[in-house]
Amino acid sequence: MSDVLLLNFTYEALHVTNLRRALKLLISGKAEIVQTSDGKMVHSPSKQIPLPSIIRLRYFVSRPFLEVPLTRKNILLRNNYTCQYCGSKDVKSMTVDHVLPKSMGGQSSWENLVCACKSCNSKKKGRSPHEAQMKLLSKPRKPKLIPWRPFRKEVPEPWLPFLFS
Ligand SMILES: [Zn+2]
Repeated sequence: MSDVLLLNFTYEALHVTNLRRALKLLISGKAEIVQTSDGKMVHSPSKQIPLPSIIRLRYFVSRPFLEVPLTRKNILLRNNYTCQYCGSKDVKSMTVDHVLPKSMGGQSSWENLVCACKSCNSKKKGRSPHEAQMKLLSKPRKPKLIPWRPFRKEVPEPWLPFLFS
């Protein structure tokens, strides 16, 4: 079953929905397709619709200002359980690393916390990435929405621009 990213009228990411609900929104005219999935088609008895990957509501829904809580688990999910130093991937042995260590004034924030494997974390110790000569694979950013689930396949590339502030 493919997941579909649902955007608000303002192109703000709302949540991840399933294909069945996405098709309902499209067929009833409540939403439009922003991005299809590899040009594949979905067939229903009466219609043919491109398989959606991202859809956008045709009307604005106000929703309370929801922030993704800064938790250990959400840091790991944001990085898809991938060590941000060596790229290894293991759901069980990942730790959260302060990029700039607390002892050097590093904050506990989305921008300063990354997923790191045990061995990279202990190799880095209380040093900055520069001192330890360990480069980050990607710049840590604050997510607007966490669509990741453990063990799921990668987040579709076209979703990425909508997921971060
Ligand atoms: Zn590592």
